[in-house]
Amino acid sequence: ILQQLLSGEKENYDYDLIVIGGGSGGLACSKEAAGLGKKVMVLDYVVPTPKGTTWGLGGTCVNVGCIPKKLMHQTALLSTALKDARKFGWEFDEKGEGSTGLRSYVNAYAEFVEPHKIKATNKRGKETFYTSERFVLATGERPRYLGIPGDKEYCITSDDLFYLPHCPGKTLVIGASYVALECGGFLAGLGLDVTVMVRSILLRGFDQDMANRAGEYMEGHGVKFLRQYVPTKIEELEAGTPGRLKVTAKSTETDEIFEGEYNTVLIAVGRDACTDKIGLDKAGVKVNAKNGKIPVNDEEQTNVPHIHAIGDILEGKWELTPVAIQAGKLLARRLYAGSKLKCDYVNVPTTVFTPLEYGSCGLSEERALELYGEENLEIYHSQFWPLEFTVPGRDNNKSYAKIICNKLDNERVIGFHYLGPNAGEVTQGFGAAIKCGVTKELLDVTIGIHPTCAEVILLSVWCDCVNCTSVNIWPYFDSCYQTFLITQISLHHINAASSSFCPL
Ligand code: FAD
Ligand code: NAP
Repeated sequence: ILQQLLSGEKENYDYDLIVIGGGSGGLACSKEAAGLGKKVMVLDYVVPTPKGTTWGLGGTCVNVGCIPKKLMHQTALLSTALKDARKFGWEFDEKGEGSTGLRSYVNAYAEFVEPHKIKATNKRGKETFYTSERFVLATGERPRYLGIPGDKEYCITSDDLFYLPHCPGKTLVIGASYVALECGGFLAGLGLDVTVMVRSILLRGFDQDMANRAGEYMEGHGVKFLRQYVPTKIEELEAGTPGRLKVTAKSTETDEIFEGEYNTVLIAVGRDACTDKIGLDKAGVKVNAKNGKIPVNDEEQTNVPHIHAIGDILEGKWELTPVAIQAGKLLARRLYAGSKLKCDYVNVPTTVFTPLEYGSCGLSEERALELYGEENLEIYHSQFWPLEFTVPGRDNNKSYAKIICNKLDNERVIGFHYLGPNAGEVTQGFGAAIKCGVTKELLDVTIGIHPTCAEVILLSVWCDCVNCTSVNIWPYFDSCYQTFLITQISLHHINAASSSFCPL
């Protein structure tokens, strides 16, 4: 190598770029690099789950993540919509390869054997070696197990759920974050008996006020929560499709033991980065030994200059599909098209597809208080009743919006939170506004689209008076549209946060 460096000679590699992992990030990066004329190889291999579930190219999002999850969520929402439809007057019966040809895909498990060389092992165990000038690691994560008796033998994870050939029946979901609440939510929406076992809090890292409201809505719609418990043992009572399982759990606060019977136990306690079996030591890539995540600089470069990493395996970054795609695409452009643009990981909007969806962008209230102090924040709240819920007469005042503004910076919006229908669609637009530095004043002068839920952020009674939490702020149907507007506008200027007077 030294001789080559001195003579200026370039090593002859099989590929310009090898991407390990054909998921959201890996596919985006390899497609872009191939489009820029590079010779690229993508290796993707799915290690079957302990239950034997496996799938094809595309990674988590399209096979066992965002897409099947959103479709199941929509299926569950349609069940509510069918009930609502009767109230709206409906009558019905109850029955009811790469852009330039330079990108090649290999279905094989990749691991480094040297810094510029990988071994690819296919399904039949055949080993092939490839070299490349550069590498991108995009191996993603897989569900974590609990490490208690019976977990791998009898429980499933989200990697199995979407391929389950039978109805899961009475289900216990263990965990309380994105995956647990989303899966528990849609299973309940499909009519199943669902319990969520929560170790500590819901949706750690999210605004807790909003997280608890999302949880309360689930509770109001039949999901049971078993709080402050952790499982200790899973036993099979009866095999079958589904069978019967006995779950033993212990309280995190007292000596109490819980025992329950379920048909299915879904473990959703987080995901582990797939970095421990890919020979990173042979390539000299540093990994955080505590969590298996890969630290990178702001250009997604690892400590080994020719090896980059993107997506879920990155330390301290978002684990979201659009983030992996953006990072992969921009990385290829920087490597091969002279671009300087870096992936911006700040103010990434996200939505948890719970039965009542929760979208957020920026800081939670807790984090904002920690960073700026109460005296420097103005926090605006609004409880609302979506128009589509009014005719069926359901879920009054369960929807909620909150924006957190920094008084030190012209009331710039530093936190956006929305709990209500179509949260993903609503949050996406406000995410763009936050990127543009939107302030409360700019929100106030923005004209809403009526009648929508999103307009509550622009034209609503903003009040953090304690009394308001139990008040229906949107008097849609008691009044005509004109009255509604007048009421809203006249109350619009009253910010009860700054006075003890509550207009309602
Ligand atoms: P992945 O998409 O996981 O791809 C990694 C690929 O590499 C996999 O195919 C893997 O098998 C393969 N691989 C691993 N090791 C090797 C190896 N040694 N050799 C060859 N191939 C290998 N995000 C959202 O933005 N919105 C959502 O609504 C959403 N919902 C989700 C729901 C669930 C249930 C889950 C689990 C995740 C969800 N996510 C969602 C997160 C999203 O799926 C991930 O952030 C995204 O897939 C990460 O992309 P990635 O490229 O890092 O990894
Ligand atoms: P996660 O966010 O890491 O949450 C893990 C959950 O499991 C927490 O509630 C945690 O509780 C609990 N837990 C951990 N160990 C436990 C144990 N031993 N016993 C009981 N409970 C335990 O994991 P995730 O829900 O799998 O999500 C992973 C990532 O996927 C997310 O960060 C997200 O970015 C992505 N994702 C995104 C979407 C979306 O965009 N809609 C959907 C799904 C997933 P504690 O709080 O007590 O630690």
